[in-house]
Amino acid sequence: MQQALQRSSLVPRGFVVENAYYEDNKAVIAVRASGSVGLCPSCGTVSRRVHSRYRRRVTDLPLSGRIVQLLVIARRFRCDAVLCGRQIFTERFAEGLLEPSARRTTRLDSIVHHLGLALGDRPAASFAKRLMLPVSKDTLLRVVRRRGRPPADPLRVIGIDDWAWRRNHRYASIICNLERRRVITLLPDREPATAQAWLAAHPTIAIVARDRGGGYGEATAKALPHAVQVADRWHLMENASRAFLNAVRKSMRQIRIVIGATTIDPKLLTAAERLQYEGYLRREEANVAILALSKSGTPMKQIVRLTGYSRQLVRQAIRGERHDVFRTRQSSLDQHLPWLDDQWASGCRNGAELWRRLKACGFRGSLRVISEWATRRRRAERVDAQNLQRIPSARKIARLMTIGRDLLTNESWQRRLCPQCAPKRIC
Ligand SMILES: [Zn+2]
Repeated sequence: MQQALQRSSLVPRGFVVENAYYEDNKAVIAVRASGSVGLCPSCGTVSRRVHSRYRRRVTDLPLSGRIVQLLVIARRFRCDAVLCGRQIFTERFAEGLLEPSARRTTRLDSIVHHLGLALGDRPAASFAKRLMLPVSKDTLLRVVRRRGRPPADPLRVIGIDDWAWRRNHRYASIICNLERRRVITLLPDREPATAQAWLAAHPTIAIVARDRGGGYGEATAKALPHAVQVADRWHLMENASRAFLNAVRKSMRQIRIVIGATTIDPKLLTAAERLQYEGYLRREEANVAILALSKSGTPMKQIVRLTGYSRQLVRQAIRGERHDVFRTRQSSLDQHLPWLDDQWASGCRNGAELWRRLKACGFRGSLRVISEWATRRRRAERVDAQNLQRIPSARKIARLMTIGRDLLTNESWQRRLCPQCAPKRIC
């Protein structure tokens, strides 16, 4: 039995076709919802009062080798419910038809999802192009992730730690599933009571990895008394390396004496280093004043009051942890140093030229970084090893002593063996 092909059978059920035409190589079908009422998404009240209409373009399944775009003429309704906060809402379509704000119909989205699952991102994207469903590889991944089911197995092992909304201003707590390596939730603050309430609602948790402060430990002990608490690896490493750095800082005076760099010649320093050196002199003045007070038996509280320095600073000075001259950060230059040394050795000694060449190799730092390096290098070559009054910072020494052997470059390895072997390399 023959049956006429209806235009409405080409579009998802629930839409009425208004018009259809070709635009370039696409088939455009203008549709509207068949119903005459809208349901307010906030309060569920039925509304017949249309406020306005607007057009949405969404992609649908291809037709005869052409991409199909539905031009959906959607309505905005007024909500008449007295207590509803929403005055105007856009119409929602039937389940499985078209999601709010979606750019694809649900039936196309489902095919995109299956393509993504079967072929992965890039192959699925090129196959989809041949099927006239143009989607990017990123979209495919997004659809697969969005439609992925949340894990149903109960939480067993979690990690909890501070998390910064804005560093130094506002902190929250982050909780991760350590078995799945996924963030589970962000709590609005880092109060023990908030963490405790959340933990109490998840009694299946058996192991909690946390920092070494008391807050989260206390919350866990109260909410999950049977759970095992472990210090997480990151915090152990962080605490250990900080303790090691403090130990090196304490020994800086002796290190300087051994290397023979007890005096620093400001003439040999670059502008940035001179600023740091001036800061060091100021710090030393403060250290001497604090130590004199401490030796005369003044309690720490009194020293804080007399000198106006913070308690932490006074404590560091008394413990001898403030003798570092140069404080260095991880430099953007570190990984390029071997290359720069090669260029220098082969005769290229112009800072701007070195910068241009290094930039071509992917260096993203500024010209100033390279020209400062070249200046230091030039000065270092001018003076002999005896006159070079420069030793690495405590941080650098601590790093050289703790870094894995395989990660050391040849030169830093040399320096670790004997700092005087490579006197012309300045860090
Ligand atoms: Zn409403």
